Amino acid sequence: MQHLLLINIKELAGVETGESRIKRLAGSDMKNLPSIRNAWLYMENGRIHSFGSMDEEHYIQCNDIIDLKGKKTVLPAFVDSHTHLVFAGSREGEFVDRINGLSYEEIARRGGGILNSAAKLNTTSEDELYHAAHERLHRVMAQGTGAIEIKSGYGLSVEGELKMLRVIRRLKENAPIPIKASFLGAHAYPVDYKQNKEGYLNLIINNMLPQIADEGLADYIDVFCEEGFFSVDDTSRLLDAGAKYGLKPKIHANQLHYSGGVQVGVKHNAVSVDHLECVGDAEIASLQGSNTMPTLLPGAAFFLGIQYQPARKIIDAGLPVCLATDYNPGSCPSGNMPLLLTIACTQLKMTPEEAINAVTINGAAALELEQEAGTIAVGKRANLIVTKEIPSIQYIPYDYGNNPVDKLIINGVVA
Ligand SMILES: [Zn+2]
Repeated sequence: MQHLLLINIKELAGVETGESRIKRLAGSDMKNLPSIRNAWLYMENGRIHSFGSMDEEHYIQCNDIIDLKGKKTVLPAFVDSHTHLVFAGSREGEFVDRINGLSYEEIARRGGGILNSAAKLNTTSEDELYHAAHERLHRVMAQGTGAIEIKSGYGLSVEGELKMLRVIRRLKENAPIPIKASFLGAHAYPVDYKQNKEGYLNLIINNMLPQIADEGLADYIDVFCEEGFFSVDDTSRLLDAGAKYGLKPKIHANQLHYSGGVQVGVKHNAVSVDHLECVGDAEIASLQGSNTMPTLLPGAAFFLGIQYQPARKIIDAGLPVCLATDYNPGSCPSGNMPLLLTIACTQLKMTPEEAINAVTINGAAALELEQEAGTIAVGKRANLIVTKEIPSIQYIPYDYGNNPVDKLIINGVVA
């Protein structure tokens, strides 16, 4: 039997003590990050077995003990629910183009952006893609990520999309953390279909989806619902087609315009609608009463220098907020979750507790991993962050640009 006991934990944060698991936190509840000071935590066979206060001294004795000496804090590992971690090559040329005044949309029109990544991906082997993605995955794990979602969408051809999804499947098989795969064939129109958009929709629906379903390669279907990309009607059609294969939607919505993406996502009972730079009263009204998680990707807004998401407006309307990195080679070449927390606090005016809840319990909800991840709760997978010696939880986003992680514990073992 494999076990591990942590004692003298300065603060055990993100604990959940009730019998039934909380699915997600919304509105003013997001401010609360329940914690136990001076705590212990016992893990057995990869799961959280029990935890409590040192003062009560009820912990199970075992030979594998780490004494945190009252100086280090423990919290649930971060859940990054939106990434494009599998990609070929970097795009710093476009980064310079943007500095010199070109917009993201202008770069896309010139064949840069997603099409640039698609051209590189289609000439890169599955092995090369796998090794580069594996290295990125381990880098973000060192920064506290303990569960992740990864999308296709740089293939834009039957073979290219299948290749990306097979790379994600290989990562799932070999990585110690939970990984969810989203099929994003509708990320952009490939060059060959620029004048034949109907043809590309048919290719996705009639060729890509059946093969992906046949090989069981995706958990979700994603669409870039945006002006100049896929319309609300296109999105609706694609989500209906995905539903036939049991793929729930997680979609790119309202990044550059009030595109109707949020509403179409909610209508199709999307697990999440992601990006949300452009959110007004109509979008908020459609999210009210739904199970769809509003997921904000402020790392992309930071890197593109565009407007940030109205996180306060969404939270103050009583809705939940999830945060994810959008790690991708164009608009956010970073999967750094601690830095994302800083951006959420300084630019979105979220409190540190709200931001941490947004990347733990709400991140887990955005990947339907609420029974596995997101809080310190008995029976959940023991994927935890042990911090360096820090004075408080608030210090994590405050200490920006630095890595708060001393150790990552994955499945009850120091990774
Ligand atoms: Zn994205």
